[in-house]
Amino acid sequence: MIAQRPMSKPGKITSRQAEKAVRDYLRPKPYTPAGLKRQRCVHCGAPATEQWSLRPCAVGRAGWYPLCAEHDLDLNQIVMAFLKLPDAEQRLDAYRERIAA
Ligand SMILES: [Zn+2]
Repeated sequence: MIAQRPMSKPGKITSRQAEKAVRDYLRPKPYTPAGLKRQRCVHCGAPATEQWSLRPCAVGRAGWYPLCAEHDLDLNQIVMAFLKLPDAEQRLDAYRERIAA
């Protein structure tokens, strides 16, 4: 079981940022490193440093989602806990160290 840490509260994002995030949900290709630097985290609006490829069945199509480092870690924690991976805590710690380097 992964030790739960409190989820960070999402910051305010403008309606323009929210509209852009929705458009980008269905982005078919990953962001380039330069393109990712121009994106905002879909959760809080902070500058994005990571991206996830997700295909929620309710959405029906795969898309690329920019995230800040903090929310990338949160999503990793949530997914690994949901999947009940036996070594989730070690993997999360190793990943946290890797992205902090
Ligand atoms: Zn964020």
